[in-house]
Amino acid sequence: MEQSATINGIIADLAQIAADPGRYASGWKARREGRVVGILPMNFPPEIVHAAGALPVLMQEDDAAITYGRSLLHEFYCGYTRSLVDQAATGKLAGYDGLFLVDHCVALLGAVDAVRFELPEMPVYLAQFMASMDEPTTRPQVGEQIAALRQRLGELCGVSISDAAIQHSIAAYNRNRGLLRKVYDLRRRGRIALGSRQMQVLIKSSMVMDVEEHTAILTKLVALFEAYPQVPEGQVRLHLSGHFCHAPRPELLDMIESCGVTVVDDDVFTGYRYIATDVPDGPDPVEALTQWYFDRNSNVPCSTRAQKTVDWEGYLVDSLKGSGAQGVVVLIAKFCEPHMLYYPELRKALHREGIPHLVVETEHEGLALEMLKTRVEALVEGIRRPRIATAQALA
Ligand code: SF4
Repeated sequence: MEQSATINGIIADLAQIAADPGRYASGWKARREGRVVGILPMNFPPEIVHAAGALPVLMQEDDAAITYGRSLLHEFYCGYTRSLVDQAATGKLAGYDGLFLVDHCVALLGAVDAVRFELPEMPVYLAQFMASMDEPTTRPQVGEQIAALRQRLGELCGVSISDAAIQHSIAAYNRNRGLLRKVYDLRRRGRIALGSRQMQVLIKSSMVMDVEEHTAILTKLVALFEAYPQVPEGQVRLHLSGHFCHAPRPELLDMIESCGVTVVDDDVFTGYRYIATDVPDGPDPVEALTQWYFDRNSNVPCSTRAQKTVDWEGYLVDSLKGSGAQGVVVLIAKFCEPHMLYYPELRKALHREGIPHLVVETEHEGLALEMLKTRVEALVEGIRRPRIATAQALA
C-alpha cells in the first residue's frame, strides 16, 4: 500500500510537469541559465539540442480552445498544428529561444509558416529528411541535414557542439528510452497495473523534461515496479495504434479502460513509437543519428515514410502476437492525412488476420465519450464472445 502511494505520488508529480511544459521549461531556464528549444514531432533527434547545452522540449498540443489561431490556419488542419499555431498567437511560446523541426507532413509545414508569420523574431529552423527511405541518396541527404542542424543549434546556443557532447547526449537518451521500454515490457507481461493515462504521463514527461532529471525519477519508479508487481484487472487485452504527433486525451484512455480493458501495448507517438529505438554506438555521432532515423522506421514503421521492406500493418500484427493483445483500437487524429490515407491498409491486414478492431477519430475540440463508449463496449463484447468477433472481422 505504501509503495503504491509512492508510485502514484511520483507519477502525479510527473503529470503536473507534462501538463504544463512551459512552466517546467521556465524553471529549468532560471536554474540552469540555458536556452530552451522547442522541437516538433516526429523525427527530430533531441540529442543534438541537449548536446548544445539547451533543454529540448517536444511541443505538445495545448488543451485550451483554439482562438486567435483560427485566423491563421484552416479548420481542416489537424488539432495538433492548429493548437501549435494558437499557442504562438497567444504568447505561449514566449519562453522558447527557438523552434526546430524535421518536416514530415504538409500540415506541419503550414503550421511552421504560420508560426513564422506570427513570431517573426523567433528563430525557426526547418530540416527536411527524405521520406523515401530506399533511395541511394537518402542516407547522405539525412546526414547533411543533421550536420546542418548541429551547426544551427551551435549558433543559437553560442557553442561548438563536439562529437563527445553528442555521444554523451546519445547515451543519456538511450538510458532514458531503455527504462521506459522496461516499463512497457512489464506491462506486456502483465507484471504491472499501469493504466494508459499513467503510461502517457511517463512518456510525455520524458519529452519535455531534462533527460537526466527524468532518468533519475524513472530509475526509482522502475525499481518500485519491479519490487512490487501488481496484476492488472481488465479482462480484455487491447493494443492502441496510431495517433501521430500528440497525445490522445487521457479521458479517452480512461473510458476505454473502463470497459473491462487492459491496454497492454501501443504504437502511438506519445507512447512506444517515441521510445522504441535507441541511437546505435559509433565513432561518428552524425552517422549514428542518421542510422537512428532509418532504424526507427524499421522498428515501428510510420506512414509518413516510404520503405519497401517494412510495413506498419505487418509490424502491428506481429506486435499483437508478442503482447497477446486480442484486439486493436486505432486512434486517428481528425484531418491527419498521413494516417487517414494509410488506414485502409491497416484495416485490410486486421480483417485478414481476424483481429477485431475499432477506429476512433479524435478531435482537439472534444469527444463524444458516451457514444464512443458504446462502440468500445461492442468491441470488448465481441472479443469475449468470439462468434461476434468473427462477424465483426468479416464486416
Ligand atoms: S502527421 Fe498528422 S497529426 Fe502530425 S502534424 Fe501531420 S496531420 Fe498533424
